[in-house]
Amino acid sequence: MSQLFNFSAGPAMLPVDVLKQAQEELLNWNGQGVSVMEISHRDPAYVHMAREAEQDLRDLLNVPDDYEVLFLQGGGRGQFSAVPQNIASPDATVDYLDTGIWSGFAIREAEKFVSRVNVAGQVQEGAKGKEIQSPKDWKLSENAAYFHYCPNETVDGIALHEIPDVKAPIVADMSSNILSEPLDVSKFGVIYAGAQKNIGPSGFAIAIVKKSLLGEPQKQVSSIMDYQLQAKDGSMYNTPNTFAWYLAGLVFKWLKAQGGLTSMGERNRHKAQLIYDFVDKSDFYSNKINPAYRSIMNVPFQLADDKLDEAFLKGAKEEGLLGLKGHRFVGGMRASIYNAMPVEGVEALLSYMADFERKLG
Ligand SMILES: *Cc1c(COP(=O)(O)O)cnc(C)c1O
Repeated sequence: MSQLFNFSAGPAMLPVDVLKQAQEELLNWNGQGVSVMEISHRDPAYVHMAREAEQDLRDLLNVPDDYEVLFLQGGGRGQFSAVPQNIASPDATVDYLDTGIWSGFAIREAEKFVSRVNVAGQVQEGAKGKEIQSPKDWKLSENAAYFHYCPNETVDGIALHEIPDVKAPIVADMSSNILSEPLDVSKFGVIYAGAQKNIGPSGFAIAIVKKSLLGEPQKQVSSIMDYQLQAKDGSMYNTPNTFAWYLAGLVFKWLKAQGGLTSMGERNRHKAQLIYDFVDKSDFYSNKINPAYRSIMNVPFQLADDKLDEAFLKGAKEEGLLGLKGHRFVGGMRASIYNAMPVEGVEALLSYMADFERKLG
């Protein structure tokens, strides 16, 4: 069998170098004689590592000084409730773009904490495929406490590539596209991400929060979700997920060694373009998203006959191409090509797709 490539949407592949380093130091981290999981999060060596990870993340994203960088628990969906609890009052109105499955979950969670969730815009079928409504058609509220959107809808592979120009503080669920390309953090109120796509293990989350938004949480905000409290305690109000934080730190160092986000962005766009070009030229494979809204992280594609899906997946697995089954809500195929996926993986996928089409298309 050839080399394995894992296209899983999440938990997703991690850089091999990172896994190797973690393996090498698993039993004896940093000369401590024990693993990084087995020491106190208050141990100076651990705290040093944790702060270095924060600094590396700040460097990668050029996070301005007036933002807190928080390492939290509860994954992406934990933030669906943390956001309204922290930066809206119970009687607030908030605006959400509803661009797919994850936006929908975020909306339903926010409805528990604020009096009105206004769906400001949606996806629609256009002449060139599925697309996100143009900002001029959005129905924004007068005094929204914040505007929430998901720049990269992981399931449908639909993305909003421009940062919206709205009055309210922008909150973005970047679970599946954080660190995939350079980003102007100063345009956002809150950026959050579950870790298992582009950062590290699941259950862990990162939130980058503008300091001016802190200070008036809802009275009922639960302590482990309280941004202000977590900021004050250096994200160690309770015991953090120490292993995930450590692994995320290794990923940040790996990203720096790859040349940072400019170089990741170029690579990611190149990988995605290779697949879209191939699919667009083929009569057998298709992608139904308007090219202007296509994700560079998650590339769904359909076979002309879905009765061949199983054979496609079986053959792919035999070639060492894993995790290509589309989300259970939408079917078809999906290649997730996060930072850790090398271009060789994409090339192997395309050569398998061409073969499959020749034989069965
Ligand atoms: C995966 C994902 C989530 C959910 O993350 P969990 O850690 O499972 O809660 C949320 N939003 C987006 C965009 C995702 O891709």
